[in-house]
Amino acid sequence: MLKVSDRIAAMEISPTLAMSQKSREMKAQGIDVINLSVGEPDFNTPDHVKKAAQQAIEDNYSHYSPVPGFVELRQAVVNKLKRENNLDFTVDQIVVSNGAKQSIANAMMSVVNKGDEVIIPSPFWVSYSEIVKLAEGTAVYVPANLDQDFKITPEQLENAITANTKAFLFSSPSNPTGSLYSKEELKALVDVFVKYPDIVIMSDEIYEHINYVGAHESIAQFAEIKDRVVVINGVSKGYAMTGWRIGYIAAPLWIAKACGKLQGQMTSGASSVAQMASVAALEGDQSTTVSMRNAFHKRRDLALAQLKEIPGFEIREPKGAFYLFPQVSELFGKSNGSLTINSSTDLSLYLLEQANVATVTGEAFGAPECLRLSYATSEEQMAEAIRRIKAAIEKLK
Ligand code: PMP
Ligand code: GLU
Repeated sequence: MLKVSDRIAAMEISPTLAMSQKSREMKAQGIDVINLSVGEPDFNTPDHVKKAAQQAIEDNYSHYSPVPGFVELRQAVVNKLKRENNLDFTVDQIVVSNGAKQSIANAMMSVVNKGDEVIIPSPFWVSYSEIVKLAEGTAVYVPANLDQDFKITPEQLENAITANTKAFLFSSPSNPTGSLYSKEELKALVDVFVKYPDIVIMSDEIYEHINYVGAHESIAQFAEIKDRVVVINGVSKGYAMTGWRIGYIAAPLWIAKACGKLQGQMTSGASSVAQMASVAALEGDQSTTVSMRNAFHKRRDLALAQLKEIPGFEIREPKGAFYLFPQVSELFGKSNGSLTINSSTDLSLYLLEQANVATVTGEAFGAPECLRLSYATSEEQMAEAIRRIKAAIEKLK
């Protein structure tokens, strides 16, 4: 029988991308949909980055790059990690890939064997679970609810560790919750990891630059565990470069080599032009990154104040990234005519159809009581979206 592999059959379609596609299709039909589903900056790539890409084309960057990336870019990453994070890495510890998503997949495939456990604090970003599945590992979720600001405690971490634990994967600032682990909170987790020297710590820092409370804290700063931390980052969010598809890891050499080996057979590395554009992003003027962060901050404040007015939405202030993650379970069981909302997925579909606002169900992130709204959109669009959501919710009795 002709059919796809069990590996692909067992995988979920990315719900963030699926919802975004659905709203694109509705727009194409002439429906005025406001898309708060996908998490990507609505800003355009800074001009100096675009110019660097044009120059790279002129300079015939049209050939394969070295598999782990051009030395210029890997050196720019090393410089960035020193300058912004005070972390010491060498060029051969950096592997550039087609977005941080591939960086995570490479790292996972490189360390996880069939049946190995990967601990993931929940809520988590949608692709973590599927990437672990692809690597034939078993995801072990550690739940963190709204009352604990969606962050796990050291006790919870330690309780989840078994003899089969191979890796730990988390994001801070977090997608979908916007929570940040403080230096002290990271240190408390490190104190647990110190007792378990065989666990690889994968730290997804893609939202590093979208932080409203101060300096970014990386778990790689702790010398006790640095030799088994994989820092994952990229240019998608901080430089408004989602479509350029450049992400990277900074990792122990053995993991960096394994990732290079894997992508040497899978993709041959990332686009040469996009890599040269990323050098300009990392080494050039950082003021657009700061101004985008400030714009997100203002929108966060406006959207949060408006969202608090919606009956049945319980919300706390996210400290980074560009998502609002209200708890909406109070609305479950309510109806509009013959339609009853029994889950976050029901609510997300109801808002799409009734209010023409695209959101993402919390179920996609392991939090069925919540709903994700991205505020990486203009203030006017956001205000209009929330007005529509409020009107639709008020119809639920
Ligand atoms: N990690 C997190 C938490 C994300 O939200 C994203 C956004 N897509 C990624 C990784 C991947 O980013 P990209 O592949 O665009 O670099
Ligand atoms: N990370 C973004 C999101 O969560 C982009 C979409 C994706 O890559 O899943 O919406």
